[in-house]
Amino acid sequence: HAKTLGKGQFQFYTESLNVAARERLALDSALRQAIEQDGLHVVYQPKVGAHGQLYGFEALVRWDSEAFGSVSPARFIPLAEENGLIGHLTWFVLRHACHQAATWRAQGHGHLRVAVNISPSLFREKDLAALVQSVLDAAGLPPENLELEITEGMLMGDVQRALAVLKELKAMGVFIAIDDFGTGYSSLAYLKRFPIDILKVDRSFVMECDLGNEAVAITRAIVSLAHSLNLRVVAEGVETASQLAVLNALGCEEFQGYLFAKPLPGPEAAAFLDAAPAA
Ligand code: C2E
Ligand code: MG
Ligand code: MG
Ligand code: MG
Repeated sequence: HAKTLGKGQFQFYTESLNVAARERLALDSALRQAIEQDGLHVVYQPKVGAHGQLYGFEALVRWDSEAFGSVSPARFIPLAEENGLIGHLTWFVLRHACHQAATWRAQGHGHLRVAVNISPSLFREKDLAALVQSVLDAAGLPPENLELEITEGMLMGDVQRALAVLKELKAMGVFIAIDDFGTGYSSLAYLKRFPIDILKVDRSFVMECDLGNEAVAITRAIVSLAHSLNLRVVAEGVETASQLAVLNALGCEEFQGYLFAKPLPGPEAAAFLDAAPAA
């Protein structure tokens, strides 16, 4: 009897594994199709100063799939990194973001930076700088209007390679931001060696900043470290006025989060832009 049960269980597990594998495969090919057929779109979340001045937007990719509904980037970005689609996806987002920024520039908003997330795997490609330059050229966007958000993990691993690519990008004139800072393992000493402009404090610290606990102490340390290295500090995921008050008192220069706006489709971002006080 035990044998039969064991066999049945085994069958059950292979069944569910097959279901998961099949769904993954279907998701994979749907994503491939979405990328090829313009099925993705880009939304823009404002980054503002304490008085609502607008400094720029972070471009975030969205996928509304016919078969899967709206799929979170937290789910499909890792998939795209595994199946090799991340290059195409990033190129798509870069093109849209740079075109959007060029349009805003032409409308008199020449100071705005648009930020694009760059995946670690892409960072290892040797032609990243060339790709970025070609997109800037095609959009007619000056490099100082583009910011690239990379994560700490990228600074680990092949440090020499990361340094070389960053220097190339920096020489072009684009801004470099470290995203989700505080969640990785990068040595603080590394920060000094890399040509970085901006540090984004991770939402997990921001979230707890109004609780008066150790998150405030950590955030204070991050901000003071950043400022001693001449970096601008952006707080991500700001949701409440009391978080904003604490972060502002700590000296953060820019704020991004639902307190100000969710990521917005292009036309709504333009409306936000028109309503914001001059930076
Ligand atoms: P991220 O770069 O740290 O982006 C910030 C995420 O926090 C976004 O989620 C944004 O919608 C969310 N967020 C912003 N403000 C708030 C807030 O006040 N409260 C809360 N709870 N969340 C807030 P999203 O768009 O789902 O993106 C998740 C992650 O997916 C991003 O984290 C980024 O790592 C990745 N991602 C998104 N778009 C792209 C892309 O175009 N390329 C690459 N490589 N990765 C992307
Ligand atoms: Mg980001
Ligand atoms: Mg972030
Ligand atoms: Mg984050």
